[in-house]
Amino acid sequence: MSEILLFSAGLDSFPAWHYLGKPRTLYFDSGHYGRQQEIDTVQALAAAHGMDLEISNELDLSRWATPQGDLIPFRNVLFAMLAAFRAEVIWCVGVKGDHTADKSPEAFARMSEMLSTFVDRPIRVDSPFWNMTKSDIVAWYLKSGLPVNHLLQTFSCATPGSAFTHCGRCPSCLRRWIALTNNDITGHFAAPPWTWDRIRTYYVPAMASGGYPPHRVEEFHRAMATVGALP
Ligand SMILES: [Zn+2]
Repeated sequence: MSEILLFSAGLDSFPAWHYLGKPRTLYFDSGHYGRQQEIDTVQALAAAHGMDLEISNELDLSRWATPQGDLIPFRNVLFAMLAAFRAEVIWCVGVKGDHTADKSPEAFARMSEMLSTFVDRPIRVDSPFWNMTKSDIVAWYLKSGLPVNHLLQTFSCATPGSAFTHCGRCPSCLRRWIALTNNDITGHFAAPPWTWDRIRTYYVPAMASGGYPPHRVEEFHRAMATVGALP
């Protein structure tokens, strides 16, 4: 059965490529904000590691993007539909606790059902990491003997600036920093993520009031403790 991995430039999809036995990968250049840095990163990763990578521009979603560069709603449904032309098993990386409308175990089950009906053969949309947090994924990567410097070639920042720089001031950088720190890896950030204002003004109160699953709170506190920044 043919498989394909929807590849992003981020911290999860590179370990996923190893975890799944190096399947074909597909990156959608959908015209979104910050895509050039992602394209540069996926091309560099593919060249360095012999990945079978397709960069597709068949889907231009730029008219649906917001000026804030927010994620395009239900884009994963569109990605899965186009991936179904190519493979029966479509891996799209979600992690433990993800629950956005288009990225959760339930959402992927619905996509699988819908696509199987229309394509008229069994299609499975799934993530290999529903039972793992980002910190768990990095821990698995290290335990498998894979090199730290390769992992640090990934790109996770939602506020792209100069090439390959992580701002340290966005939710993506914060999650990256937590996963790396909890595995004793020093990431490179333009500003220390643990000093970001939003930690005090948003994350700490939101976590205290139950707005995050317990495993996310635990990982956040564990990382903050290592830099003595516990609130
Ligand atoms: Zn950032």
